[in-house]
Amino acid sequence: MSAPASPFDWAPKLVSSFIDGAFVGEVGGYRIPTFYPGDGRIISELQEADALEVDRAVRSARRAFNDPAWRDMAVEARQSILYRIAETIEANALELATLETLNAGIVRRDVLGRQVLRAAYNFRFFAEAISQQPGQVWQQNKDYLTFVTRHPVGVAALIAPWNSPLALASMKVASAIAFGNTCVLKPSEQTPLSLARLVELINDITPPGVVNLVNGRGGVTGAALTEHPDIDLIAFTGGTETGRQIMQTAGRRLKPAAVELGGKSANIIFADADQERALDGALISIFSNNGQQCLAGSRILVEDSIFDDFVGRFVERAQKIRVGDPLDDATEIGPIASARHREHILSYVGVAQSQGASLLTGGHALDRPGYFVEPTAVLAPSNSDRVCQEEIFGPFAAFVKFRDMEDAIRMANESQFGLVGYCWTQNLDKALRVSQGVRTGLMWVNTPMVRELRAPFGGVKDSGLGRDGAAASMAFFTEEKTTTIPIADTTLRKFGV
Ligand code: NAD
Repeated sequence: MSAPASPFDWAPKLVSSFIDGAFVGEVGGYRIPTFYPGDGRIISELQEADALEVDRAVRSARRAFNDPAWRDMAVEARQSILYRIAETIEANALELATLETLNAGIVRRDVLGRQVLRAAYNFRFFAEAISQQPGQVWQQNKDYLTFVTRHPVGVAALIAPWNSPLALASMKVASAIAFGNTCVLKPSEQTPLSLARLVELINDITPPGVVNLVNGRGGVTGAALTEHPDIDLIAFTGGTETGRQIMQTAGRRLKPAAVELGGKSANIIFADADQERALDGALISIFSNNGQQCLAGSRILVEDSIFDDFVGRFVERAQKIRVGDPLDDATEIGPIASARHREHILSYVGVAQSQGASLLTGGHALDRPGYFVEPTAVLAPSNSDRVCQEEIFGPFAAFVKFRDMEDAIRMANESQFGLVGYCWTQNLDKALRVSQGVRTGLMWVNTPMVRELRAPFGGVKDSGLGRDGAAASMAFFTEEKTTTIPIADTTLRKFGV
C-alpha cells in the first residue's frame, strides 16, 4: 500500500479480532480507545473479544492444527512460508513502523531500523533453525534402536506487552508456527495496531486459522485465553505479577508456560573501562525504546574513582537528548506509551527524593501535549532504595557507587530480578568474574543489547521462567516422543503358555 497523505490515515477506525483468516468486524460489545501518545488523540478503537470470541479463535486454531497439511508439512514448505512472511514484513515496513509509532510512541526511525527488521529476521531465523535441528538416536543397547522424534505441541496462547509489540510478538508467532503449532495472539490492549496488521499480512501466506488474533484487556480476553481448556501451551511476555497469575493458571491446567518478565538490570562500569564506549552504552541501555524496555540497564553501578566524572558526562549528554515527535527522524526519545504510565514514572522522582536520593537531571513532564518525560537520572544513596529495586520502565536511571568488584557483584545480585546485566571493563579476568558472578539470564560485556537469537534468552528469579532461542524454542514448542524398535532377535517372556 502506498503511503497515505497523513500517517494517521494508516490507523484503522476499529480493530477487531482476526479469526480463521478474516477480521471479525464490528459486532458490538466493549470498546477501548487507542491513543497516539505523541499528543493524546484517539486514533482507533479496539473491540474487546469476550470468552465466546476467544473460544472461536481457539477452535479455529485447533482446526488448523488438526489439518495434517499444516501439522505435517515438509520443512522446505514451512521454510518457504516463513521466508515469505519475512519478505512481506519488509515490504510493508513503513506501514508497520508507522502503526507502531502511532500506538506505542517509539521513534519511527528506530522502529524502521530495528524492530521491523528484527520482526522479519525472527521469521527468517526460525526458517533456518528448523532445517538444522539434530535428533537423538540411542544405540548403546545393541538389541534395540531407540530414537526421539519431535512433534508440535498444539494450540499456543501468545500474550504480548505494549512496550515493543512488533519485535516481541513476532518472535512468539515465528517460533510457534515454525515448529508446526497454531496460535492465538493477544497483544496488549494499549497497542493492538501494528500486530493486527501483522496478523493480517501473515494470513495472506499461512492457511486460515494458523495465526489468530484476539484483542482486549488482560483480565477479560487474556484470562479467557489462558483458561481455555483447548490451549496446549502459553508463551507470555509482560509484568512479573501477571506472570505469576499465568503460571498459576498453567499449573492448574497442567500446561507448559514460558514467562518473560520484568527487570532491574545492573550496568556495572569499572574505572578501567573504555569510558566513552561505556558512556554510550549506558545511555543506549537506559534511553532506547523511550526507556520502556525489560532489558534496560536501569541501575548504573559506577566505581567510586570515576563516579563524579562519569555521572557528570552522562548528565551532560542526557540533557542534550532530543525528546519529541516520534514521527520526526531527528527525535531520539518519543513519548511514554500512556498518560498513566507517565505518572507512574514521574512518581519515582518523589519516591527517590523521600529516600535521600538527589535528582541529577530531568524529572518532569514536557510542557506540551502528549506523554513526554525528560530523560531522568537520580543519585541513589543505596542499592536497597526503591529506585534501585523496583522496575520503573521509563527513561529513568538510578546511579549508585561501588568500591570494588566484589561490591559490584554483591549489589548487582541484591535484586528480586535477574534478566540481563552489563559490564564495562578492559580487564578480561574482571569481565569473566562479573559475567559469571551476577545471577542473571544474560550478561553483555562491553556492549549493550546484542541479541543473538541462536543463544538462549530469558530471565532468572522474578524475571521469568523459560528461554527463547533456537534450541530453547524448539524444546518449548515441540514435544519429544521416544520410539524403541528391536534390531536383533529378542525373545519375549511368554505369559499363559
Ligand atoms: P502486563 O503484565 O500488564 O501485560 C502483558 C500482557 O498480559 C498484556 O497483553 C495484558 O493484557 C495481558 N494480561 C494482563 N493480565 C492478564 C491475565 N490475568 N491473564 C492473561 N493475560 C493478561 O505487562 P505490560 O505492562 O503490558 O508490559 C510491561 C512489562 O513487560 C514490564 O514489566 C516489562 O519488563 C515486561 N517485559 C518483559 C520482557 C522480557 O522479555 N522479559 C520484554 C518486554 C516487556
